[in-house]
Amino acid sequence: MTRITIAKGDGIGPEIMEATLEIIKAAGAQLEIDEVEVGEKVYLAGNTAGIDKSAWDIIRRNKVFLKAPITTPQGGGYKSLNVTTRKFLGLYANVRPCISLHPFVKTKHPQMDIVIIRENEEDLYAGIEHQQTDEVVQCLKLISRPGCEKIVRYAFEYAKQYGRKKVTCFTKDNIMKQTDGLFHQVFDEIAREYPDIENEHWIIDIGAAKVADTPEYFDVIVMPNLYGDVLSDVAAQITGSVGLAGSANIGESCAMFEAIHGSAPRRAGQNVANPSGLLQGAVMMLNHIGQTTVAEKVQNAWLKTIEDGIHTYDIYKEGVSKQCVTTTEFAQAVIANLGQQPSTLKAVHYDQETVLTLPKYQRKAAAKKELVGVDLFVHWDGYKADELAEKIRQVSVPGVELSMITNRGIKVWPEGFEETFCTDHWRCRFKPSNGAGVTKKQIIELLEKAEMQGIDTIKTENLYTFNGKQAYSLGQGQ
Ligand code: NAD
Repeated sequence: MTRITIAKGDGIGPEIMEATLEIIKAAGAQLEIDEVEVGEKVYLAGNTAGIDKSAWDIIRRNKVFLKAPITTPQGGGYKSLNVTTRKFLGLYANVRPCISLHPFVKTKHPQMDIVIIRENEEDLYAGIEHQQTDEVVQCLKLISRPGCEKIVRYAFEYAKQYGRKKVTCFTKDNIMKQTDGLFHQVFDEIAREYPDIENEHWIIDIGAAKVADTPEYFDVIVMPNLYGDVLSDVAAQITGSVGLAGSANIGESCAMFEAIHGSAPRRAGQNVANPSGLLQGAVMMLNHIGQTTVAEKVQNAWLKTIEDGIHTYDIYKEGVSKQCVTTTEFAQAVIANLGQQPSTLKAVHYDQETVLTLPKYQRKAAAKKELVGVDLFVHWDGYKADELAEKIRQVSVPGVELSMITNRGIKVWPEGFEETFCTDHWRCRFKPSNGAGVTKKQIIELLEKAEMQGIDTIKTENLYTFNGKQAYSLGQGQ
């Protein structure tokens, strides 16, 4: 018996949750269920997070959370409950299987069977954004070694447990050499620990094009947060219907399972919604808690029902479907098929091996870190790099000198091009003039002198080497 938390959500949420619970209970799921209220009602009662403390207490105690879609009210500064939950509970892995159900659900990609594993906590989603000048805003892209190791290891363990043959990594490390570079590097390191699983890396742009065109080429794909967000929707859509996909959000101690679609408010209360997405989430939950026999039974009965042509309105198609059913009728049909297997679609087999247990992240020894320069960011609306260089060179601090100025990353001094468009946001790179390192004291002096010269400094970014290796990017064109 496992104690779980559920939230029935908004719109079609309560109907698809009821159908899902009915099916998994009929299949023999051993669950003790606590229900919490999250979403629209909580938001509208004035809680901008959409969830209150008592709900958190229950979710954290039970550790396993099955959540129906919720409605986030428009405007009013309401925070996304999904993002909050992922971050608070450390749900670092978002797992989204995208499989075609050809010929029973129309798709251009009959052979598609991929699992997207998206890093869920970092990258541009850390939400650290600032306006720094009149013309420029920034968003910090944070990628950590623990974040990369956890998600990449999860992808390989997932592939191993589910008998998958290949793990592909998507990044844009030809451009983002530090952030995406780290993700790719960690991928290569961890891949070596799994010699039986094929591995490869693609640059995200051509990789995404290949997914849209020839998804059958891929098996498991792991990638940083933003790319995963976009691509997992593309992948789910091209299977034929987003209404059929579930997703798991996995952390070291907690996990949340859901459908990928929203609360479809216009369909609410009509008993027409397709419960399959949430049911897919529930199957992943059953595997997660070790009730693999029940998960297998539910999944095969569901596949058989789809194969029988018993379809809700969203996937109903004249000539393919046999019967257009309501939410409750669909649930009854799945229940009636419990114990049976599909004959055209591939039946699944899960066993205890399917339960993933990952080792905790082991911290590495600190590297030798040396300060070798500083980037001083400046707000200046003179727009001419040579003039700014003259100004900045008057900020003289013994032992450091101006080595380069960039604008939006492009080198504009020395030897810039007149054609390069410049904004009011400049990066002035200072390096040691004598070849030695730079001290924090020199940086503070630099800021003080700049202030005295009336230069509007926005921020500084220290330049380091780690174990002697340069750990910052060069200016484009440098
Ligand atoms: P949606 O997914 O709710 O609906 C998009 C379309 O798909 C609609 O035409 C709907 O009728 C159909 N649809 C969706 N699920 C279906 C199902 N199970 N069966 C049959 N048809 C289905 O997306 P939306 O309209 O953009 O968003 C509605 C609300 O849901 C918004 O408030 C949004 O914030 C919220 N939302 C919540 C989640 C979540 O809780 N995880 C995810 C996405 C959107």
